[in-house]
Amino acid sequence: MESLILIFMFVIGLFFGSFFCVIGMRLGREEGFVKGRSYCDHCHHSLSFLDMVPIFSYLFLRGKCRYCHQKISPFSTFIELFTGILFAISYYSFGFSYEFLLSLLGVSLFLIVLTSDLLYMIIPDSVLLFFSICFLIVRFFQGGFPLLGSSLLSGGILFLFMFLLMKLGNFLFKKESLGGGDVKLLFVIGLLLDPLLGLVAVFLGSFLALPVALVLYYRKKEPVIPYGPFLLLAALFLFFTKITSSELLSFLTNLVAFSYH
Ligand SMILES: [Zn+2]
Repeated sequence: MESLILIFMFVIGLFFGSFFCVIGMRLGREEGFVKGRSYCDHCHHSLSFLDMVPIFSYLFLRGKCRYCHQKISPFSTFIELFTGILFAISYYSFGFSYEFLLSLLGVSLFLIVLTSDLLYMIIPDSVLLFFSICFLIVRFFQGGFPLLGSSLLSGGILFLFMFLLMKLGNFLFKKESLGGGDVKLLFVIGLLLDPLLGLVAVFLGSFLALPVALVLYYRKKEPVIPYGPFLLLAALFLFFTKITSSELLSFLTNLVAFSYH
């Protein structure tokens, strides 16, 4: 039964992934999100349902448009697979619970931001607002007003931290160092993680982004790295490990004690 649910979550994730990719692209291009049907980027022929079955359409059409035979980017297939896997991991980690709902929301936010930030260097405000409201609703059902309040506080603290970091970066480097989208994103991450874990996500995210930054630096003079997806990936990773702040603190103190031994 468990493995059936896992497969079911994976398949549902494939379809949601294809939806997230469309949202990320349309909002990234500022097209508005309910603008008719999907179409081929080359010939603008509108796509039928059969052209949009996750994974299968891509394999069946051998990565080419049915109408103009131009190559289709494998990007959306990649997003679909990634969503399927992360939906399955969400169920595997949490079963049916409030954490499961939160992780599905977190994964959805991650894939939409991955699409829009990677392709258009934008984290749409509407997406952040929508997911903030969803997270707050789940937090309220999970623990009433006390949890709602502490989640808001955590989001506020992390937002302020990132805002100050941005101001410091702008002062030190005399140019935009962090995007405003990343600062707002930290508020949403605070609804998922407490402030300490949120800070760890900031450092872990930078660490994950570093190899990409180095590659871009050697290719281009002025690299612009979409930091948002890395930040969210780090936050999701911490959420999936179910580690608490106190566990993390004792782990860190042990590590320090060990290295001074
Ligand atoms: Zn076409």
